[in-house]
Amino acid sequence: MTNSLFMRIRDRFPADLSSVLIETSTGKTYSYGQADVASAQIAGLLTGLGAKKGDRVAVQVDKSPEALFLYLGCIRAGLVYLPLNTAYQAGELAYFMDNASPVIFVCQPHRKDEVAAIANDQGVEHVLTLGMNGEGSLMSGAQSQSGDFAPVPCADEDLAAILYTSGTTGKPKGAMMTQMNLWSNAATLEKLWGFDGNDILLHALPIFHTHGLFIACHCVMLSGAKMFFLPKFDRDQVMALLPRSTVMMGVPTFYVRLLSGDDFTAETTANMRLFISGSAPLLPETFTAFEQRTGKALLERYGMTEMGMATSNPLDGERIVHTVGPALPDVDVRVCDADGNVLGVDEVGVLEARGPNVFAGYWQMPEKTAEEFRKDGFFITGDIAKIDAKGYVHIVGRAKDLVISGGFNVYPKEIETLIDKMDGVDESAVIGVLHPDFGEAVVAVIVPENNGTLTEDGIIGGIKSQLANFKVPKRVFFVDELPRNAMGKVQKNILREEYKSLFAN
Ligand code: AMP
Repeated sequence: MTNSLFMRIRDRFPADLSSVLIETSTGKTYSYGQADVASAQIAGLLTGLGAKKGDRVAVQVDKSPEALFLYLGCIRAGLVYLPLNTAYQAGELAYFMDNASPVIFVCQPHRKDEVAAIANDQGVEHVLTLGMNGEGSLMSGAQSQSGDFAPVPCADEDLAAILYTSGTTGKPKGAMMTQMNLWSNAATLEKLWGFDGNDILLHALPIFHTHGLFIACHCVMLSGAKMFFLPKFDRDQVMALLPRSTVMMGVPTFYVRLLSGDDFTAETTANMRLFISGSAPLLPETFTAFEQRTGKALLERYGMTEMGMATSNPLDGERIVHTVGPALPDVDVRVCDADGNVLGVDEVGVLEARGPNVFAGYWQMPEKTAEEFRKDGFFITGDIAKIDAKGYVHIVGRAKDLVISGGFNVYPKEIETLIDKMDGVDESAVIGVLHPDFGEAVVAVIVPENNGTLTEDGIIGGIKSQLANFKVPKRVFFVDELPRNAMGKVQKNILREEYKSLFAN
């Protein structure tokens, strides 16, 4: 037994435990000492209910300081934290309870009856509640517990969390994250991105996802820094807090929204040392507009639920637009063809990664796990990429997005990039739709800029000369907005469903 993830994080708390860890949007503060006591009390409550090391605790609650303390309480007691998106509905919850068999489920107070009924059916013993202001049976029960709970020792390979992948395609899979997966990535990133006790992170991400929970909160707690904890991204609140913050982590949509107002300037961002972007592709236009407006280069990095972060543009050194930077110091990346042959510089294939950050497999899905790992331990990410001569990784698209039309592979990203450059186009998504002749036909769904006068013929005519014929969209549709999931990723499965009968006879 070595130090557990909790012990390692706790060791990094500042010596002065009255230092502020969290300030909420209403100005309420929570110290590191409070986090320590609350996590002990929660660990005491959960183990008192019978939860033992390795048991899962499923959590579907709004973002709050107490929700973070619940995560800390779980890992303090050696329990496996299982956060769930608050958007999940009854049928999805039944699936998660059935798949992960948690012993305790913590839910929003207003959904107690609904969740308790599902929990009852699925044999989950205890349902507790936690509201966005800390109200509910979790914290009221925890209050009477001791603030001094001895952390449960854990080995590096013991599980710390299970995260269901955001599921833009297929059935959600529970990625098993070990103590070492989370620790190694946290320690690497805190150092790489230069965090210290003077930092103040502007935290507007959800905490049911790896980005907001592990990447953001671990960097803060490992450096004794502070964070502004906003319930969600609210442009006005973010603008008001920027002058008092030093670092922000966000999805590209955050930065697009910040750039949408003239008040986002070099002056309003003068106190910020670092803006980090990830979880979805950052458009080069956004990177460039950001730099022009603020004088700062966005730092784009790349990762996945299954491995936390794998690559990052540098803190010091060249941040190259449209790349996600080189591999992290303790991570190996390579690009391979479908048979696993390693490809050379600038050759496009599937990105694979190996390192202490890479997960232990999918919960109760050994076959799915085996399919996604090579014999030498590399995880097949499913992202299409190339690695340039400087070692910087370029994400070209998603393997599952790949369209095969008339036997030819079409990478949607290539066509989207061309369409996005056309006058009057805000953004686009290219999908494959079943076609009697071609197998799949390329279809473009476009969001025009305000009052655009775009036409289908105009778009097709405009790119025809630049692309092989099989890549040119057979049809073009205009919409007000693209469907996106909670992390800002375009949900192409919804588009595919919508247009699936387009070419049916
Ligand atoms: P998730 O597991 O929800 O974090 O989603 C991971 C996926 O998001 C990756 O497999 C990529 O397809 C995508 N992704 C994350 N970061 C980036 C990035 N910087 N550029 C392009 N795609 C990204």
